[in-house]
Amino acid sequence: MRTTSEEALAFLERHRLPPTPQNYTLAYIAVDEPTSRIGLAVKAIAEDGVRMRQEEADEIVALYAGDSIRHSGSNGDGERRRLEAQAERLGALTATAAAQSQEFVADLDSEAQQLDSQAARTVQIVARMIERSKQAEDNFRSALREIEALRQELATARGDAERDALTGLPNRRRVERQLEELASAGRKRTVGLCDIDSFKRVNDRFGHTVGDRVLKMVASSLATSCAPHLVGRWGGEEFIVVMDGGNAAACTALLDQARADLASRRFKLRETDEPLGVISFSAGVAEADGDASNTPGALHRADAAMYAAKQAGRNQVMLG
Ligand code: GH3
Ligand code: MG
Ligand code: MG
Repeated sequence: MRTTSEEALAFLERHRLPPTPQNYTLAYIAVDEPTSRIGLAVKAIAEDGVRMRQEEADEIVALYAGDSIRHSGSNGDGERRRLEAQAERLGALTATAAAQSQEFVADLDSEAQQLDSQAARTVQIVARMIERSKQAEDNFRSALREIEALRQELATARGDAERDALTGLPNRRRVERQLEELASAGRKRTVGLCDIDSFKRVNDRFGHTVGDRVLKMVASSLATSCAPHLVGRWGGEEFIVVMDGGNAAACTALLDQARADLASRRFKLRETDEPLGVISFSAGVAEADGDASNTPGALHRADAAMYAAKQAGRNQVMLG
């Protein structure tokens, strides 16, 4: 059986790519970890006997070595400084790999001229070549590991900043971003504001902890009923559903079903089996078309419709 290094060299030969440290590292990862990002990128290009060109190899390296450095500016101060420090280390690592690669090519040039007269030197050159390739590979791998860790940290940081801690739903900030994104893509959007009915009574009668439990339960019930649309926590006991497109009638029907499902359930206090009474919400729906400046108007109309639903006796959905 061939070793991974031999397979990597065979890969380079097959693709007529020179065995520079960078190419060797790329080939090594492609054969050693075919399901890694790099492995998959190479596979996408080099499938079915297609030969990979040097520009394509360079592109893969550039793509996976630069990415997360660009994203390091969007977090809080402490977090940002830490990420910047990591990005700096990452930059140093890739720079070392690049320097080794250049040095190596220069060496090869001068050594190659003496090859025929000094056959024995060939062995040394190859040995050195492999040694350098291994060093570059180590650097490259550490850089990739750091990039991956950085990417995951950024994803987590962003997720935490846009999630409501109590219910796990997207928070208001996330909902506002969704509305902005839809508006800037020129999409109409429909919003449904839901407010739990007489929620203060739940708190007053059973305490804040039970109130929190009810909030979580309503959150998960709404998210399930309205999937795959975005459901977020808009405020204290208010939730919002956002739909892509102008679907006010469909949104009203969907929320009315969600409301009926929730109101038909009979909740009991876990500890004593005491009934909590009917848990329901009132909702108002409105849609916005055109640009982002229409979003506040739609939210205002949805809020007014929700208020009208409260006035009309609660436990109902109204179209604004
Ligand atoms: P209405 O039907 O008119 O909406 O009546 P309501 O009692 O639901 O409305 P009100 O605005 O008077 O009270 C809302 C209550 O929700 C008051 C506040 O203490 C409670 N609340 C807001 N956020 C939370 C929370 O995170 N946890 C708990 N337990 N209660 C909360
Ligand atoms: Mg309220
Ligand atoms: Mg309420």
